[in-house]
Amino acid sequence: MPVGMRPDDRTNDVLENGFIDDGIIQIDVKEASCCMYDDAIWRDIELQRSGACPVCRTNAGPVALREGEYSGRQCACGVIYIDPLPDHLADATVDHHHRVYYSAPARARVGWVKAFTRRGRLLEIGCGDGEFTAAAIRAGFTVEAVEPSDERATRVERTLGITVERALIEDSRLPEGRYDTTFHVDLLSHFPDPVAALGAIAAKVAPGGTVCFEVGLFSNLSPFWQRLVGRPNMPTHMWFFDAPAIERLLDAAGLKLIAMRRYPVGLSTALSTVLGSRRVAAAPDSHAPLAQGWAAAPYYRLHMFLRYGIGRWLPMGGPQTAFVAARHKTDSA
Ligand SMILES: [Zn+2]
Repeated sequence: MPVGMRPDDRTNDVLENGFIDDGIIQIDVKEASCCMYDDAIWRDIELQRSGACPVCRTNAGPVALREGEYSGRQCACGVIYIDPLPDHLADATVDHHHRVYYSAPARARVGWVKAFTRRGRLLEIGCGDGEFTAAAIRAGFTVEAVEPSDERATRVERTLGITVERALIEDSRLPEGRYDTTFHVDLLSHFPDPVAALGAIAAKVAPGGTVCFEVGLFSNLSPFWQRLVGRPNMPTHMWFFDAPAIERLLDAAGLKLIAMRRYPVGLSTALSTVLGSRRVAAAPDSHAPLAQGWAAAPYYRLHMFLRYGIGRWLPMGGPQTAFVAARHKTDSA
């Protein structure tokens, strides 16, 4: 029992409400605050911050995932949220993906954006090494980007001749209402507050413009798929979504969904789980890529073919990746 905790009704209440996990007493901060702040002794307790659904801001969901000290709780809206919140956020300048992950689907991703906004100024959030950036420039967009890694930002500025702001989108000082469209890939699971981040992105877009992105859909999976998907990689991933959850998330950020194209990624996921199971058993904390050296590029090309090539023709079900397009709710069309 932590220093300062008293063995009274509240402790029993906490026990009965199931906030005990692996010997750590977690207190629902909202619930506790209403009766704690009048008692000085309680102020010394270091509360572990319980997670909550970023859309509904509630935190009573049942546990759907477990990984180490973290649980993923299922919200009724479709989001799975991490609980407790990690002490430290993941370093946004670190990216474990192979370059093929960005280069192989780059044209398809630009094609998705172009289906809704044909030309103009595009803001890319997290340009990395510029694979999407180059494809967007070739497609006729004027691209500007935000990227927290100074090294990558410098490389993209040098090779593609565009301006890159060294920042997270939440801190970006680029002018609001400046862009015709925006794009990012697989960032929603990492933003500390995905509603605030999407709101910051939406603010950069002019009336009539579009917010486009790609996001993995890994919530509400059957036990079969959950086993095949393997570890959820918490706390690097803090939120997991399904298609209805994305629509609610957009709504909370002042946006409305205009289109979504989903690709089942079960084949690709199963391949990495089967190949990776021995490595994960030997080194559970390793994030090293499964294929390295000469084998890496063909291995990840195969993955991309399974996801976007074959995946397009497979029946829906299991984990998916989705291309999403949205507009301001205030736009009439
Ligand atoms: Zn929710």
